[in-house]
Amino acid sequence: MILRCHACGQSNRVPAAKLAAGPRCGSCKGALDAHPIAVGSEAEFQELVQGSPLPVVVDYWAAWCGPCRSVAPELERLARERQGQLVVAKVDTEALPGVAQRFGIRGIPTMILFRQGQEVRRTSGAMPAAQIAAQLGL
Ligand SMILES: [Zn+2]
Repeated sequence: MILRCHACGQSNRVPAAKLAAGPRCGSCKGALDAHPIAVGSEAEFQELVQGSPLPVVVDYWAAWCGPCRSVAPELERLARERQGQLVVAKVDTEALPGVAQRFGIRGIPTMILFRQGQEVRRTSGAMPAAQIAAQLGL
């Protein structure tokens, strides 16, 4: 997968299987897993949910969606607070409609928790980070 560093903008190639090892930016050594991961393609989505040793919370969102914008900082918080325990990822439903369709996403934002490639739970709507975690049983 390609993980963009939020500190310096460097793109880093990180296998999903290595996500539990605290991946760091090759350029500035900043933590790559302290922010939500922007999923860039269907192949990356597959690699992430199938290959991640950590649970993955996927946020399905779109740029035009107001509640998606208001939940974005809460997902940032979740990624920061649970760093090393889970991975937070974002799927732009406009850029990757196939991924959204496959999971029957009707309303956004929708957050789905995956473990070992399987959907475990899902929730929809903007809410605080603690409530997202509670709804997903984290
Ligand atoms: Zn960096």
